Amino acid sequence: MTHNIFWFRNNLRLEDNHALNECIKKSQMISFIYIINPHLRTIKNKLTSKDIFIIQGLLNLRTNLNNKGHRLHIFYGEPKEVFNQISELNSFDEIYCEEILAPYEKSEVNLIDKKTNCIWDSTLIELNDLPCDPIKIPDTFTIFRNMVEKNLVVAEPVYLPGIPEPVSIKGLNEFDLPDVSESKFIGSVDFLNNYSICEFGAKSFVDDYFKDNKASNYKITRNELSGKDFSTKFSVWLSQGFISARQLYKKLKNYESTKGANESTYWIFFELLWRDYFRFLHFKYGENLYFKYGLMNSEINIIDEEMTLEKLEVGKTDSSFMNAAIRELIHSGFLSNRMRQILASYIIFDLKTDWRVGTDFYQKYLIDFDIYSNQGNWLYIAGYGTDPRGGRRFNVIKQKNTYDITNEYEMRWNDNT
Ligand SMILES: Cc1cc2nc3c(=O)[nH]c(=O)nc-3n(C[C@H](O)[C@H](O)[C@H](O)COP(=O)(O)OP(=O)(O)OC[C@H]3O[C@@H](n4cnc5c(N)ncnc54)[C@H](O)[C@@H]3O)c2cc1C
Repeated sequence: MTHNIFWFRNNLRLEDNHALNECIKKSQMISFIYIINPHLRTIKNKLTSKDIFIIQGLLNLRTNLNNKGHRLHIFYGEPKEVFNQISELNSFDEIYCEEILAPYEKSEVNLIDKKTNCIWDSTLIELNDLPCDPIKIPDTFTIFRNMVEKNLVVAEPVYLPGIPEPVSIKGLNEFDLPDVSESKFIGSVDFLNNYSICEFGAKSFVDDYFKDNKASNYKITRNELSGKDFSTKFSVWLSQGFISARQLYKKLKNYESTKGANESTYWIFFELLWRDYFRFLHFKYGENLYFKYGLMNSEINIIDEEMTLEKLEVGKTDSSFMNAAIRELIHSGFLSNRMRQILASYIIFDLKTDWRVGTDFYQKYLIDFDIYSNQGNWLYIAGYGTDPRGGRRFNVIKQKNTYDITNEYEMRWNDNT
């Protein structure tokens, strides 16, 4: 009897989960695990909103699996060590998981001694449906978009087949998730207090989003700085894979067929293509996207080596607008797209910080942290990515006058957290 382990990574759902379906297909017995790798998650120290979000998601996934007669084992440590310990005390055949192409996440898998099957699953457009080999992806987003749109194929979401016999993993200490039942989300993500953090919550949220006409005005409101409805907030659910891009797309198409398609509804799809693009670039450039000068040969921005993450976190820069943004990020775990851009530009060009310190800053706090989108956007702003125009510097004063002329945003985050 083949006994395989399914390792949940950034795909905490059972429906439309290609890696899970593949594992189920190849197994007669199955165990489910999640690993909290201290190099990627802080969960043991002071909890961020992002930690609380993931903890709630894991508790709900555990309940969902329990209801199906299965257990979710949660371990703490580096995957190589965890799997070595499992192998010493349990017999199993292979590991199945989602493929993540960022260098650290790749190395997590490469170090594991057991055979590990990684299945690509996080894009809207599946690899087979991409009109070119992903290692030949165009360097310009518009060319990529036109190419994809000309031959657009989006796969239908797949359902969860019957899960094979459960097998418990024995002999290892499991990680006790901290009690977060009293924790509350604030700011633009306070809506999370009204939804269960799991795949069912994700679906209800998206259904609620499409109930009225917000999607038809999305393009007009998406640059606002705060609030629930100015943008979709789908990133929050996508980041841990509570919903797949394919499931979202299907709901978007249903909305268009009942309420009508317009430039705004198209723009939601357009942004999901950006998300795909940053993922596919990893097939072509891999770890180069993480080098100090990204895809360039040398420095194009001046760096003050003294600027560290700890200094950024203090939030006492010369700009009170940017200090407000830093506080919003740290306390709520979210920033609007516009504010992510302004703050990233400020960190790179005004504070002269190594852009990779900025990526770490966002990684530590963003509830919707996504390694591909974060890296891609920081590279784009720093000018170290594929964009030939070389960097995007935002004038903080001008941005403040355009998006926070009433001072509402600044007062909210500087006075009241
Ligand atoms: C410096 C910087 C860092 C970022 N880091 C992240 C990150 O860690 N995780 C993350 O999901 N997004 C990141 N983004 C992209 C974007 O800001 C967020 O996806 C968006 O603000 C999330 O809110 P939303 O779901 O309401 O977006 P919406 O505007 O409603 O967009 C719908 C969906 O399209 C995708 N999308 C939108 N804009 C982008 C974009 N610029 N790049 C890639 N995908 C996009 C997201 O999946 C999003 O959920 C970053 C942007 C910048 C400038």
